[in-house]
Order: sequence, then structure tokens, then C-alpha cells
Amino acid sequence: VFDVLIVGGGPAGAASAIYAARKGINTGVLAERFGGQVLDTLAIENFVSIKETDGPKFAVALEQHVKEYEVDIMNTQRAVKLVPGKISEVHTATGAVLKAKTVILSTGARWREINVPGEKEYRNHGVAYCPHCDGPLFKGKRVSVIGGGNSGVEAAIDLAGIVQHVTLIEFGNELRADAVLQRKLRSLPNVKVILSAQTTEIHGDGKKVDGLSYKDRGTGETHRVDLEGVFVQIGLVPNTEWLKGTVALSKHGEIEIDPRGQTSVPGIFAAGDVTTVPYKQIVIAVGEGAKAALSAFDHLIRSGDD
Ligand code: FAD
Repeated sequence: VFDVLIVGGGPAGAASAIYAARKGINTGVLAERFGGQVLDTLAIENFVSIKETDGPKFAVALEQHVKEYEVDIMNTQRAVKLVPGKISEVHTATGAVLKAKTVILSTGARWREINVPGEKEYRNHGVAYCPHCDGPLFKGKRVSVIGGGNSGVEAAIDLAGIVQHVTLIEFGNELRADAVLQRKLRSLPNVKVILSAQTTEIHGDGKKVDGLSYKDRGTGETHRVDLEGVFVQIGLVPNTEWLKGTVALSKHGEIEIDPRGQTSVPGIFAAGDVTTVPYKQIVIAVGEGAKAALSAFDHLIRSGDD
């Protein structure tokens, strides 16, 4: 029986593992893909104290740091079911059942893709998902933001201060963002909003993005916009499908946590992009992971099991 079983091996899970193991308690990490989203990232320039690194390097460093401690890492294993209890169970896709006194859920999230030709080919070569991360790479260039909800409009406002020009493309016939954001957006001279537009293709020269095509849903005509970057902002999906009916989830499917990382179920904690914590960033996931591990340790000493 683990004292702490961490499900998810991204930055949040890695931080939880280090903090738990340093308490000398029996710690395990179950991860489908150790490293998490950073494995799909090129440059990382906002992890405080590391001026610049890249995703795969960062993922290796995470794993090496965790391996400094006695942590049972179970990589390439997917959790499919959680059964909370005094001793909770985590069932894996291969049929194994792991038991733990406390569980930390850190299964992260994934960006919703638009699934058009060019998106996969030019991912990280002009196609981006995170304006806080990749915005500065497009300084002085032309970009588009796909999606007119709060995240799309916030991204467009943010990017307008860095890039030369932003074209915001919304599928529906109106923006869905809060009125105050829409007002701010409309006041910016270097942003153009196109409504009722369905993105049909992202173009490139074989190496990087050089344009985008969309269909005007009113007229049916297709138009091309020349640009260097495309930010897809149509939603971040938390990896919580396997948790339905166990811990409380928000309407967006994120695990609801309190400021200590406690979920609605005692002994079950959560951290990082999978939770309701705002701003999905590595530095934040790491802090949240550390917090959840300290809360789990606190739970163990208070329940008198350790
Ligand atoms: P994740 O990194 O998503 O890790 C989740 C972990 O859970 C993975 O190990 C996954 O395999 C595992 N998992 C999921 N489901 C299961 C399951 N059912 N069973 C077992 N394991 C499971 N942030 C920055 O701060 N700076 C950047 O420059 C930056 N650039 C980014 C670029 C891209 C392209 C992307 C996609 C994200 C970027 N981010 C960046 C965001 C950052 O990567 C995330 O905020 C961070 O990785 C979140 O960490 P996490 O541990 O919460 O989740």
C-alpha cells in the first residue's frame, strides 16, 4: 500500500513525488507518459531560474530529479478507475489495482485541436496553443487566433501588444467572450475580427506556417490570410474522463480543489492543469504539486496512519 500514489507524471506529478518522497513516505507515480505536455513543447523561457530550455530536456530533468528519491515510477500505464476509500484503489488499463492511503490526481489537460490540414504538420512551427508561452516568438509578425471565447479574445488582446497584427477568427456569428474583453479587443488598432468563419486549412512552405484559409459561412466563399502564426484557442480539455462520479468536477470538467489541493473526497488531492486552478503553466503546476503533496502528508499524520 502506497502512502501517496500520484496519478500523472507531468510537472505537477513530478513535484508531488519529490515533496512526498522527501517526507520519507512510500510514494508511487503512475503515468501514461512521464513528462506530460512539456514533451510536446519546444522552447520554454518562463520557468523561473531557467532562462531557456526545451520541452524534452525539461522532461528528462524532471525524471532525473524524481529518480534522486525512492519513488516507484510506473510509466506508460493508464489509470482507468478510481475507487476512493480509507484505502483508495486506482485501476489501470492493464487490469492492475494499486492501493494507497492518499492519492494525488495530476493527469493534466490537452488543447482541443481544430483538426484541419496543416495543424499537425506545423505544430510548433507556427501552430501554437499557449499565448503566454509562445507569444513572444511571434514578435513583430502576423498571427491569427482561432476562437472567440474568453481565452481566444484574451489571447488576441495579449498578442496584439507583441505582434504586428492579429486576425481573430470565430466560427459563430458573434464573439462569446465577456463584454469587457470584447470592448478592449475592438479598441485595438491592429486586430481584425472575422465572424462566421470556418478555418479550413493552415498553409506552410514545408517548414513553417505562411497562411490560413477559412470559409465564409454566409457566402460559402473561401479566403486566404497570409501570416506567420496561428494560435488555436478553442478550449483546454482536462484529462478527467476516467474520474466521472468520484471527485467533484467543474462544468468544464476540471477537478474542484480548495487552496490546499484537497478535492471533494477526503484523502484525494489534485494539482496542476487538471484542476480548477487558474493559469495553466509549468511554474504553477509545480507549485500546486508541491502543495498537494504537503497536504497529503498532513492528512496522513492527522489520520494517525503514519
Ligand atoms: P501535464 O503536463 O498535462 O501532465 C499530465 C500527466 O498525466 C502526463 O504524464 C500524462 O501522461 C498523465 N496522464 C494523463 N491521463 C492519465 C491517466 N488516465 N492515467 C495515467 N496518467 C495519465 N507552460 C509554461 O509554463 N511554459 C511554456 O513555455 C509552455 N509551453 C507549452 C507548449 C505547448 C505546446 C503545450 C501543450 C503546453 C505548454 N505549456 C507551457 C503548458 C504546460 O505544459 C502545462 O501547464 C504543464 O505541463 C501542466 O502540468 P501538469 O503536470 O498539470 O499536466
